[in-house]
Amino acid sequence: MCSCLLVLFDLDNTLVDRRGTLADWAAEFTACHDLGDEEREHVLSRVAERAYPSTFDAIRIRYRLPLSAAELWRAYCADIAAMVSCPAETLDGLDELRAAGWRVGVATNGASDIQRAKLWATGVAERVDGVFVSEEADARKPQRQHFALAAARCGAVLGDGGWMVGDNPVNDIDGGRSAGLRTIWVSNGRSWPLEDPGPDHTVPDARAAIDHLLLHPANRARTRA
Ligand SMILES: [Mg+2]
Repeated sequence: MCSCLLVLFDLDNTLVDRRGTLADWAAEFTACHDLGDEEREHVLSRVAERAYPSTFDAIRIRYRLPLSAAELWRAYCADIAAMVSCPAETLDGLDELRAAGWRVGVATNGASDIQRAKLWATGVAERVDGVFVSEEADARKPQRQHFALAAARCGAVLGDGGWMVGDNPVNDIDGGRSAGLRTIWVSNGRSWPLEDPGPDHTVPDARAAIDHLLLHPANRARTRA
């Protein structure tokens, strides 16, 4: 087992801009199927809330689309993977963390198909030690089990400590703290919305979180010294 410190990153709206990508996708989807602006808002709200194959069954029925839910889901995964990106400075930062001795993982809620498609398309997958997607073991953030499984995918255990970086106050920050991790909240321009305790640290974006972590030694033996 590695003696390096662990850092887990949330994916959506932390490493990648899910919000903007979905808005672009919904505009293309509704134009392609001759649906109006108000329907674009409806489709966007549906996938923003919960994007699973069953979401597309509801969309298929509502708009009487001549495609199966499975076909729509596959097209959605391919389209989103083609549209989503991770900033170059964030990708570089993941490399820098690992070069500095950190164990780096992704801990994300969602369907495995789409989350893993995004991870490969953006280049994040090849820059981390492990990935856990909630659907793979039915363990969603903020459940402790989610963080434990994500740590295990990186060859680490929660009992050795580490950090969680994410944009969701409940799932990432409260959940990460409850799992025994220190926390960095990616605010995306927001103020902390919950009661105290807040995160250990607040940053505007993932790159700033990485810069904060790089100031800390990754090796626990050095941390204790
Ligand atoms: Mg998120």
